[in-house]
Amino acid sequence: MDLARLVALVQSAGVVGAGGAGFPTHEKINHRCETVIINGAECEPLLQVDQQLLQHQAELLVDTLETLVAATGASRGIFAVKAKYRAALEKLERVLTGKNRLELFLLEDFYPAGDEHVLVYEVLQRAVPVGGIPLQVGVVVLNVETLLNVAMACRDKPVTHKHVTVTGAVAKPVTVRVPVGTPVKTMLELAGGAAVSNYRVLEGGPMMGKLLLNLDHAVSKTTKGLIVLPASHRLLRLKHADTRLVLKRAMAACCQCTACTDLCPRHLLGHSLEPHRILRSLSHNYTNDPTVVAAARLCTECGVCDMYACPMDLSPRLLNAAVKQELAKHRFRMPPGTEPLPHPERSRRKIPVKRLVIRLGLSSYQQAAPFANNQVAVERVVLELKQHVGAACIPLVQPGDRVDVGQVVAEVPEGKLGSTIHASIAGKVTQVTPKIVIER
Ligand code: SF4
Ligand code: SF4
Repeated sequence: MDLARLVALVQSAGVVGAGGAGFPTHEKINHRCETVIINGAECEPLLQVDQQLLQHQAELLVDTLETLVAATGASRGIFAVKAKYRAALEKLERVLTGKNRLELFLLEDFYPAGDEHVLVYEVLQRAVPVGGIPLQVGVVVLNVETLLNVAMACRDKPVTHKHVTVTGAVAKPVTVRVPVGTPVKTMLELAGGAAVSNYRVLEGGPMMGKLLLNLDHAVSKTTKGLIVLPASHRLLRLKHADTRLVLKRAMAACCQCTACTDLCPRHLLGHSLEPHRILRSLSHNYTNDPTVVAAARLCTECGVCDMYACPMDLSPRLLNAAVKQELAKHRFRMPPGTEPLPHPERSRRKIPVKRLVIRLGLSSYQQAAPFANNQVAVERVVLELKQHVGAACIPLVQPGDRVDVGQVVAEVPEGKLGSTIHASIAGKVTQVTPKIVIER
């Protein structure tokens, strides 16, 4: 298949980065490149989608990577998978036999191995330019479930379903395939319900996931996990802090030990990001160099500085996020960077996931969340009009319309970046804005 045909299929199927980023995949793959890396790190603790897809859908994933490598003119396609995912590796090794341009790369078990800049450096020893993207060093990176959605797009099947791990304080941790738009309440029922009476839910992993303020939320094309935690869990406090309070606490308690910077994964790749200096500048105005604070733009909000490194329970991450919002308001762009020089101590400062789980207080929730094979009957879905990077979609349906599974219900505005949205169940449209609601 040629690249233009593949891109057109992926675009009309509404494929976006399913690992959480939501970048429209047709834009990402619409380039010639040297290497395609499939990101099978799944480095956030507790999540178990990609490792199980690699095991159960290995043939389809391998075939699709071959197609992608041929279409983009790449010389190699690499599955980057953690060495600890043994069942997935055994299956992949068998299926990859005789595939000359495809290979496996075994990742160590550290966080955040799945950060694209980190992944490219681990696999190819190439440093992506500061503020840049992997394509600048000839690489396209796709998440495992995104590759599966590309496989479906090649068969004219749009993105209507999502794989999600539901775990934490639930009766029966599980990984399920559900229609996009399935309400969180329904998801918790699929896991046997919450095991504690007073709880909160994180959407995503424990490190980068977001605290849901209510259970009216629904699964989107980027939801990878739902983690239920007791309302008193320490992790939730770090997710839901007021920026002004964070700054006040930083003024009073930061001892400038530099642990946040010493362990920052982007700093260790050689980026000019130094969270301890940003924090000092913001709390004590202790620098004349505006580029120190502007470097917050390079922060991925991975959570290493606040959830792992800081001995004083401070959050450089939240302050960086606030700075990034301000910079975005003023349309600030980092000038193009050069290839950074990784820190000589980098390999010794990687954070083992085992230790991270203990530090996060999640040891008791480290449990298998196997795929549930039964079909899930969902009566009502709520589709966000923006489930991707770019502009919100424009609805193409009206209340009262009947729709079939896979029918386009919202389209990207002309000339804008975004991704088409399809009906995920058959039924009647009962609401259109600000979200599309479909009921059977
Ligand atoms: S780790 Fe905490 S106390 Fe140390 S410099 Fe960073 S923010 Fe300050
Ligand atoms: S969240 Fe903290 S550790 Fe992670 S990239 Fe940002 S500054 Fe670095």
